[in-house]
Amino acid sequence: MVAYKSKMVERISLPARETRERALEAAGYNVFNLDAADVFIDLLTDSGTGAMSDAQWAALLRGDEAYAGSESFAELESAVADVMGFEHVVPTHQGRGAENVLYGSLLSEGDVVPNNTHFDTTRAHVANQGADPVDCPTEGADDPSLEAPFKGNFSLERARAVVDDVGAERVPVVVQTITNNSTAGQPVSVENTRAIRTFADEIDATFVIDACRFAENAAFVRRREPEFEDATIDAIAREQLGYADAIVMSGKKDGLVNAGGFVATDDADLFERCKQRAILFEGFPTYGGMAGRDLGAMAVGLREAVEPSYLEDRLESIATLATLLEDVGVPIYRPVGGHAVYLDASELFPHLEASEFPGQALVCELYREGGVRGVELGSFAFPNTDRPELVRLAVPRRTYHREHFEHVAETATAVLENRETVSGYEIASDPAVPELRHFSADLEPLEPTRP
Ligand SMILES: *Cc1c(COP(=O)(O)O)cnc(C)c1O
Repeated sequence: MVAYKSKMVERISLPARETRERALEAAGYNVFNLDAADVFIDLLTDSGTGAMSDAQWAALLRGDEAYAGSESFAELESAVADVMGFEHVVPTHQGRGAENVLYGSLLSEGDVVPNNTHFDTTRAHVANQGADPVDCPTEGADDPSLEAPFKGNFSLERARAVVDDVGAERVPVVVQTITNNSTAGQPVSVENTRAIRTFADEIDATFVIDACRFAENAAFVRRREPEFEDATIDAIAREQLGYADAIVMSGKKDGLVNAGGFVATDDADLFERCKQRAILFEGFPTYGGMAGRDLGAMAVGLREAVEPSYLEDRLESIATLATLLEDVGVPIYRPVGGHAVYLDASELFPHLEASEFPGQALVCELYREGGVRGVELGSFAFPNTDRPELVRLAVPRRTYHREHFEHVAETATAVLENRETVSGYEIASDPAVPELRHFSADLEPLEPTRP
């Protein structure tokens, strides 16, 4: 059931093919370097790219810009308490700011951090503290064709193996990411969250939930975890987050805003430590790098994110894109996750080796053929890991509709028609932080591109 109508519009147009060819070459075959004006349908990320509601725009106008004790901060505190169940909030400029504040307060050199799967900025922030990020995805998580309800789950077995290996004293923090962004946006069951809570207690570790997509996760729990089929989204979200000692949040995801984030906790001592670090890196702890108006918009966004009609519309729109793509024969990761459709580039381009970056080849072809921007999440983004060669088409919230997705499916059809002739890529320049190379490295096609 449709849940929105438009109140403001933004003009978009498809640049000519020659313009796209030239733009791609000038971008070093890395679509992060493209001008947004040269992109027609932008599925690079769902992060901060969504449309705000009229109620959120109204909150912007009411923003209280007081340096300390702003009314807008009080609105955020009350939304976090009602929707997520935490008493203390430290606002930050976005999710990675929250990661810096929290992990900088919890980790030291030589620590080991198990996570179902580290998101790229999480991995980089854990490593930046001198700690070792270890992924513990559930069995089968990287099999794009295995149908299972909670492929985002944390493998308790793998987490125990890490502790057996390095000793519990080196594991002060355990992180669970819901939904699991780096595993195709797959959800995590509440049962799995309970098990990780118990595990964290056994080894006396702090249990952190990366809550960026907590509302989408709650919608999946309601659909797929029998215990919760009659529960409300609100109740599911509060129960699942309630097992954590602290959460990190990017408001750009399920906060339904274009910028912002926070740490939240009930632990008064951890709250104090986070506040001190926030002053150093973000701002005074009642604004933390955000304008008062943005705090107000995020407070409204958090409440909207758990509305059942919003979540139904959200999951439906991802499912629509997935169905249109499958109907034209594009291999995708199954089941479909919460914020994106993931295309299986190794199945699409069997003639390309992982070292030739089949995912990046697909990203370039989607742009070349139809001005569609996606992102590679395979061997290019995650060097030296054994992952499937996926391309993510992330869906900005409340922004694109069926007609946009039909264009994406037509573009994919054009790519499929020439699939045998697509060449691989090599890296032409490597940036300093290898964990983040896909944001800025330049590439070159291994063979001359088609005229
Ligand atoms: C986006 C994201 C982050 C980082 O948030 P930013 O707002 O982009 O800095 C951290 N963890 C996960 C799971 C994310 O999806």
